Amino acid sequence: MAIGQSNVSEVPETEADNLDVLTSTQAIIREALERLGYDAAMYELLKEPLRVLTVRFPVRMDDGSVQVFTGYRAQHNDAVGPTKGGIRLHPDVTEDEIRALSIWMSIKCGIANLPYGGGKGGIVCDPRTMSFDEIERLSRAYVRAISQIVGPSKDIPAPDVFSNSQNMAWMLDEYSHIREFDSPGFITGKPIVLGGSKGRETATARGVTICLEEALRVKNIPIKGARVIIQGFGNAGSYLAKFMYESGAKVVGISDAYGALYDSNGLNIPELLEQRDSFGTVTKLFDNTLTNKELLEQPCDILVPAAIENQITRENAAKIQAQVIVEAANGPTTTAATKILTDRGVLIVPDVLGNSGGVIVSYFEWVQNNQGFYWTEEEVDERLVTLMKRSFQTVYDAAEKYGVDMRLAAYMVGVRRMAESVRWRGWV
Ligand code: NAD
Repeated sequence: MAIGQSNVSEVPETEADNLDVLTSTQAIIREALERLGYDAAMYELLKEPLRVLTVRFPVRMDDGSVQVFTGYRAQHNDAVGPTKGGIRLHPDVTEDEIRALSIWMSIKCGIANLPYGGGKGGIVCDPRTMSFDEIERLSRAYVRAISQIVGPSKDIPAPDVFSNSQNMAWMLDEYSHIREFDSPGFITGKPIVLGGSKGRETATARGVTICLEEALRVKNIPIKGARVIIQGFGNAGSYLAKFMYESGAKVVGISDAYGALYDSNGLNIPELLEQRDSFGTVTKLFDNTLTNKELLEQPCDILVPAAIENQITRENAAKIQAQVIVEAANGPTTTAATKILTDRGVLIVPDVLGNSGGVIVSYFEWVQNNQGFYWTEEEVDERLVTLMKRSFQTVYDAAEKYGVDMRLAAYMVGVRRMAESVRWRGWV
């Protein structure tokens, strides 16, 4: 079976899409390990994080009241090295989601061959409704609560949805009060003056761009004039829109949590970037917007989901018009939708490959912190391009070699180093 056909076993018409991210991640990990010849014990170990810490911590709000927040930190597996992954600030954060995201981080690190296992953190909160001071107190309190299990050689956090370099700066500062001599590489995504890496802010979008160029090369589609729809206008989506606009592609659609804009002649991206707020909202300024659901079905050559999970499902997969989908968001496409699209010949660059630019430059930041020697933006970009191109090619080659779709190929490539490390250590 060649690329373009799905390995996923037939999904009955009546069966609902599996929207549970943990269960669907476990299913693909199991299949990847089986195809690589590992036994059930390896799956038993890798199907869940080794550790998940749940914390509850009080935060003094501006009105003097105290609110108790819940947070999580999951460490999937540290056979390869310390665990690594972002901290998500969102009202919908659940423990299962954080577990699944920590497994995805392991796979991403494995694909890029970084010396890490996966980790992930989250706080159940809505920073959009909190003041700057409240978010600072929340960030510091979370770090105090998880400080025993994180550290530059244990578990290294980073930004994720609704967290940014300011949150990282507060967290670094709090952590350095607790462990004075142990701080610079404790967290990545820091402001440059505090040891952040050049290029980290744009790394995810840059990585998506490199994957997109590789996918277009394979599909023989010129980037100039290619029509692109991007769902989500936050860190990943807005920088991607900028890079696409600059490369001569036609960005025909964008969206945020409140709606979507579509113009077949191409949107004025520089103007929209000027107008967006720090949470990636811009469509509120316009009348007659489309819904996110409608946007995904509009004519385009390339679709980049860069917002949230489960956006491309059995319900809309047949209506997607793109020939290439590059997943900037984590988990935007369900298993059933992956099958429908892959069988139609749509090339899907899965999240664990497509959005790995962020963790790759986070790794560069950690390396620079460890050696106390900082790289230029050009050096960062050159190394990112090398790693992303190699990752894309490795996954593409694996898809051809094993006759599986790009998602399963990515998991097979991504889990292999971890499984080998586990075996060498004699754990399984
Ligand atoms: P962000 O918080 O900066 O932006 C999120 C964007 O999605 C905003 O424009 C928001 O309005 C929009 N959005 C939120 N809910 C939505 C909904 N229901 N429908 C449509 N749009 C919605 O987040 P980000 O950092 O850009 O991350 C976006 C995705 O990319 C997430 O899945 C994240 O896990 C993934 N990702 C990001 C990075 C990174 O470095 N930023 C790295 C890897 C993966």
